[in-house]
Amino acid sequence: MGKVADTPENMGKCICGECPSKNHDDMGFYCAKGKSPLTVRRRGCVCDDCALWREYHLTTGYYCAEGVTE
Ligand code: SF4
Ligand code: SF4
Repeated sequence: MGKVADTPENMGKCICGECPSKNHDDMGFYCAKGKSPLTVRRRGCVCDDCALWREYHLTTGYYCAEGVTE
């Protein structure tokens, strides 16, 4: 299990929808839900602008590509 609690409240804070790398899957909140089923083309990651980044002391990003890594 990762650092980020998989709650509706946390999911509401996710800003993956504003990210240039966001896949056209039905997902988001990858830091808790796990990686995208689609290949990610990396065009930047905005996770470090997310409230959860600070709240949970996250460090890596690209959870859509890497899955839950912390
Ligand atoms: S850290 Fe990234 S994946 Fe996790 S909720 Fe925030 S924007 Fe979404
Ligand atoms: S995990 Fe990072 S790279 Fe992936 S969609 Fe969310 S903000 Fe973008």
